[in-house]
Amino acid sequence: MSTLAGNDSWKENLPCFVLKRAATEAERLGIIHYDGNKWTPSRDTSCFSGRKLKSVQERAVQQLVHSRLGIPSNFNTKVVELMSDRIKRWKAPGVSTTSDCHRALSIARDVGKNLPARFVFGFWQSVFYGWLTDTRFRHQGQVEIRSCIFSCGEPDAKDDFYHYAVCSKVWAAFYRLGLHRSSSVVQTGFRWLLLFEGDANLSIRMAFLTSVMVAVHKLRSPHSHVHSSLREKYIRDTFKEQVCSCPLLKSTFNELWARDVFAL
Ligand SMILES: [Zn+2]
Repeated sequence: MSTLAGNDSWKENLPCFVLKRAATEAERLGIIHYDGNKWTPSRDTSCFSGRKLKSVQERAVQQLVHSRLGIPSNFNTKVVELMSDRIKRWKAPGVSTTSDCHRALSIARDVGKNLPARFVFGFWQSVFYGWLTDTRFRHQGQVEIRSCIFSCGEPDAKDDFYHYAVCSKVWAAFYRLGLHRSSSVVQTGFRWLLLFEGDANLSIRMAFLTSVMVAVHKLRSPHSHVHSSLREKYIRDTFKEQVCSCPLLKSTFNELWARDVFAL
């Protein structure tokens, strides 16, 4: 962008209408401005977090989201309304969808602020029913829905988030990792897996949720050669890999195991 400006004809010099439209919008929103002999970013900090951003593109995307929806918070009704459409599928008796939206926003903000972004991404992709499974894609012409990718052998075990939330292999991995130590009450099921229930050690549970999603995605294709007898272990290995890359999670996990003198 910096090489294009300098006079009013800079937009005409852009090679396609998409770029012209993006540049016009970026100028209108104050994302870029003309400064002497080149166009430069007006700010390099996030309008959401105030943190320094890596690129003009990232700043532009955030500014566009901000101009459309405002700041993501429990009090932003536009955000909650948009989320409700996706989150209502997890509704439980006596709990409103709005309340679930508020909880998800709080967890993403409070728990996610101390973790690498991929864990928050995994949380949102799960909460929005975004795992790559055959059941989700059946409406796109895929006729056959595969069985559980973890080969649990349970009747009607489909490649679907609803199954994985109760899959015996998933919860076997959870217990073998010692994660039940993080809470006195553990319930198997989608609301517990998605962090809508239970308040203890949400960070380590968010890591587990992300790890199961990553394991499902990898076993569907690039790691489909992994033998069925090793697939529960594959979840544990994925979890350990994810946790070891984050000092805070590694420390939290090791605290759970401290009494047994076991550590990652
Ligand atoms: Zn299963």
